[in-house]
Amino acid sequence: MRYNEIEFDTYLKNYPDNDGYYGRYGGCYIPDDLKKAMAEINEAYFTIAKSSKFIGELRRIRREFQGRPTPISYLERLSGSLGNVQLYAKREDLNHTGAHKLNHCMGEALLAKYMGKKKVIAETGAGQHGVALATAAAYFGLECDIYMGKVDIQKQAPNVARMKILGANVIEVTHGLQTLKEAVDAAFEAYTKEYRDAIYCIGSVVGPHPFPMMVRDFQSVVGIEAREQFLEMTGELPDAVVACVGGGSNAMGMFSGFLNDPVKIYGVEPLGRGTALGDHAASLKYGTEGIMHGFNSIMLKDENGDPAPVYSVASGLDYPSSGPEHAFLHDIGRVQYDVINDDDTIDAFFKLSRMEGIIPAIESSHAVAYAIQLAQKMGRGSVLICLSGRGDKDMDYIIEKYGIR
Ligand SMILES: *Cc1c(COP(=O)(O)O)cnc(C)c1O
Repeated sequence: MRYNEIEFDTYLKNYPDNDGYYGRYGGCYIPDDLKKAMAEINEAYFTIAKSSKFIGELRRIRREFQGRPTPISYLERLSGSLGNVQLYAKREDLNHTGAHKLNHCMGEALLAKYMGKKKVIAETGAGQHGVALATAAAYFGLECDIYMGKVDIQKQAPNVARMKILGANVIEVTHGLQTLKEAVDAAFEAYTKEYRDAIYCIGSVVGPHPFPMMVRDFQSVVGIEAREQFLEMTGELPDAVVACVGGGSNAMGMFSGFLNDPVKIYGVEPLGRGTALGDHAASLKYGTEGIMHGFNSIMLKDENGDPAPVYSVASGLDYPSSGPEHAFLHDIGRVQYDVINDDDTIDAFFKLSRMEGIIPAIESSHAVAYAIQLAQKMGRGSVLICLSGRGDKDMDYIIEKYGIR
């Protein structure tokens, strides 16, 4: 199937199908007792989260607590240095807690509250998802258990402190490599025992159905706002939209606003140190179809067919797969997925800081770097970048590894 055979005006209603599939990707590949829990969440999502009461409350929270709508900034000096292409940034760095992740955490935690759950459970790698969820749990008065590998706990001390200050329990995972993969296993195991009182909150558009759909829908506020704001600012739609892709939630939020428009859409994956397996996390570019963490998508595999080790300078992008909807949009050709390496990312990080007074997250710097290259190829037109988060969390790492340029 190609994208010109798909009706994009009704796309968001028709994808995924009732079983959570986007074409061949998605689904719900988990043990039977957890399938019951997913069915309960799915049911609650379609009844509670589509009610006007829920939508109204989430809208108020977005405005009064998160500080939405976030603005679009015209990147005047950066654009001026590139010729005749105008670059714009959707400022998710100005969303409360400094990144887009709170958009779906507030939705998931509000749903938990409406479902009468007392606790939210999640895993975290670098700690960004853990901090966003701990924030949402504090806001709603829910307990919060965050599973984190011992190695990551040692590496991410400031985020661990944030989660604890926000009242979350950070549970150390000490088996295997003691990083994200083990944390996912431990969190799922806990959830299997606690699902009557708790809800699992996934950190991106990944995992078993209904999570990829729910997280996309909660993130779609980014694309809806951006489309309206861009039209109001310029009287036109952008020629191109660019976002970085780890699991793919900021990108799906942004892209969902433009799928039905004559707008080119680019997802940017991390090429890290290079194309050898283990040196990057560009799953859509170099991966193959497979099932992991409860869903079917395109993933990077090792020689045994297990999730391969991955690397990126941006800890929020080093995931060996991407959400099933990205795999689908990739296959049908609606979104073009491309890569940016560490070096170009760091150049873009300093460029945006120096030329615009915006210090971007290293994750978001991948999108900035790609937009700069795209602008040079396009020659004229406009590019809207999803600036998924701010770089405050990356200061120590940048100074230690790269110094001040
Ligand atoms: C976590 C994170 C990402 C990657 O997650 P997606 O689900 O791919 O959006 C990107 N940018 C920032 C700032 C993040 O914290």
